[in-house]
This record gives sequence, structure tokens and C-alpha cells, in this order.
Amino acid sequence: MGMDVFGKAPVSTEGEYFRNSVWWWHPLAEYITDSHPDLAAACTLWHTNDGDGLDAADAVALADALTADLDSGATALYEAERNAQIASLPRETCKLCAGTGTRSDDIGIEMGFTARGWCNGCDGIGDREPWAASYAFEVANVAEFAKFARASGGFEIC
Ligand SMILES: [Zn+2]
Repeated sequence: MGMDVFGKAPVSTEGEYFRNSVWWWHPLAEYITDSHPDLAAACTLWHTNDGDGLDAADAVALADALTADLDSGATALYEAERNAQIASLPRETCKLCAGTGTRSDDIGIEMGFTARGWCNGCDGIGDREPWAASYAFEVANVAEFAKFARASGGFEIC
């Protein structure tokens, strides 16, 4: 499962196509809309596959802004702060077994987890790392997207 972003009128192969899994796309889109709400505003559906996007001029303006962030270190700072914030989150009680480490709902019974005293949601531990830790953000991904946006001639998120 992922997000496919297509260049509308690519000026080079770099602008043809960009793809992130959902785990990478949502943090990237969040960074863009948080850091540059004015430049991102022409696209309202950043987080769904509805074909929304930016026109050529907006895509270049966004690429300029992201490149400036990358050059100034703002993106690296954002990544570091985000990682620190996620690392500080407490582990979450596993919902599948209610923290017991043994999944005993209908599926747990059917799959034999109940009999084994195990849970597939938490590996039988009872808690798991927070969901936020499953979502990834890296400077390199922003740089890759900025290159794509600059050469895309506008893009659609599908
Ligand atoms: Zn569990």
C-alpha cells in the first residue's frame, strides 16, 4: 500500500514519478503542510489517493522552499525533533489482547493463539511500540521529493 505521485508534465525523468509507502508518505505530507501551509494550500487532499496535487508553478515554489529548508538545516532539525518526540512516547497496551499477551478473541481462538498463550499484535508481550513509531521521516526523502516536484510540471497524488 502506498502513494503514487505522478508528474503532470515532467521536464526530466526525475519528475515523472514519486512513490512512498503510506508509512513514509504521511509524515512527508505532514511536514510539507506544516512547514509551508501557504505553498501547500492549493492541494487540499495531501493524505488520500484522490488525484489532488499542485500545478507546475506551485510545485516549483514548493521545491524551492523544501530545498531552502534542506540547505538551512531546518529539515534535519525537524527530523531530529520528531525522532526525539516519538522516542519519548510510552509503549502502548496491545489492543488485540488487552495487554495480557494472550489473544483470546474469536480470531485468537481460531488461530490457536489462545491455546499457545500468544498474541500476534504484540508477540505475546502485552504492549507494543507506539503507532507513531511506524511512520518514518528522513531528510533524504524530502530531498528526493523536492527533486521530483521541481521537475514534475505539477503533480497528482494517486
Ligand atoms: Zn497483544
